[in-house]
Amino acid sequence: MPCTVRTRRKPPAPRSRTSSRPRNCARANRPGTKLVNPTEKTNLLDFDRQGLRDFFTQLGEKPYRADQVMKWIYHRLENDFERMTDLGKNLRGKLSEVCYVGPPDTMFEKGSTDGTHKWLLGMNGGNAIETVYIPEPTRGTLCVSSQVGCGLNCTFCSTATQGFNRNLSTAEIIGQVWVAAKYLGNVPHQRRRITNVVMMGMGEPLMNFDNVVAAMNLMRDDLGFGLASKRVTLSTSGLVPQIDKLSEVADVSLAVSLHAPTDELRTTLVPLNKKYPIDELLAACKRYVSSRPRASITFEYTLMKGINDHPEHARQLVKLMRRLPSKVNLIPFNPFPGTRYERSDAGDIETFRRILNEGGIIATVRRTRGDDIDAACGQLKGQVLDRTRRSAEFRKQLEKDAIHAA
Ligand code: SF4
Repeated sequence: MPCTVRTRRKPPAPRSRTSSRPRNCARANRPGTKLVNPTEKTNLLDFDRQGLRDFFTQLGEKPYRADQVMKWIYHRLENDFERMTDLGKNLRGKLSEVCYVGPPDTMFEKGSTDGTHKWLLGMNGGNAIETVYIPEPTRGTLCVSSQVGCGLNCTFCSTATQGFNRNLSTAEIIGQVWVAAKYLGNVPHQRRRITNVVMMGMGEPLMNFDNVVAAMNLMRDDLGFGLASKRVTLSTSGLVPQIDKLSEVADVSLAVSLHAPTDELRTTLVPLNKKYPIDELLAACKRYVSSRPRASITFEYTLMKGINDHPEHARQLVKLMRRLPSKVNLIPFNPFPGTRYERSDAGDIETFRRILNEGGIIATVRRTRGDDIDAACGQLKGQVLDRTRRSAEFRKQLEKDAIHAA
């Protein structure tokens, strides 16, 4: 089939020796914007609104056509151009030739007895990631992954034991929302099943900055999933420069995986703390909220027995939290095979929460959901073709532990 995309006939201009960027680079390098590729079909899920309009312009179409297509993709969850009936026949044919709407394939899905639902979604190259939906009486939260595995090595995290393969594309990130929305019968502005999205699945979202920002643009866009900024949350383990960058380009809620009130302890749980210690991290959080009236930061604190759950830790945490508008989400640790940590006792969790509350800090204990399908917080595990040696090292350690125990 001949390609109908307009291509430039002129020979390419010589590139500068210091730059390998293509022409049109200002637009092309904007998150969510890519150039038309004349050799292979383009996945429209890779574009945010401006990116899609630019793509349509490159096709010789009016930008408002892109808005029409966005509504079909995200409001009606349609991925067949032939069923986009308010587009002319010629345009539908042209789109089918040069692009497609390609959400990830569902390899496996499972529901929990408590209503939580988990999808294992196939990514190119034999990888797979997990996405989880958590329904509650007043809202439905989708937990979305940003990377295949994770390059950071938090010692209490199941994903970390699998190593890292690659960043997800914008299409692979927003595609997770699309798959869940389709399954749940979500209709933006009318019948919302997904009221909140949290970037808290596999991976560190700020390590995949541009693709995550573009996907969050689509979650927030009225022509996308139309969620308010406070309902889209990015959770980070504390990449300070990227927190500052995020505050310039995106309006979303921020959550920080803290897990310890001192640098000494936090570095053993979140090794990234060595590079960006607590003082620097809190200063970045303060800068983030200062530009957003009424905003606060959510700090996640996973409680592990005998590690970070002493009353003294709670008192130290109170002092830290008083520095900025914040609330604390206490997460009872969810064990996974091979971990050296255990969940804190219920009494210790309650004491911890009470000390925070008495210190004037809003703190809630997150109810464990979906643990019968391994979908609870910190348990997500996809299929990672590890490009680091971490998963092999973890398996070796498991074998050693088993020999010791025998
Ligand atoms: S907790 Fe988050 S940042 Fe840390 S290893 Fe796990 S996925 Fe990565």
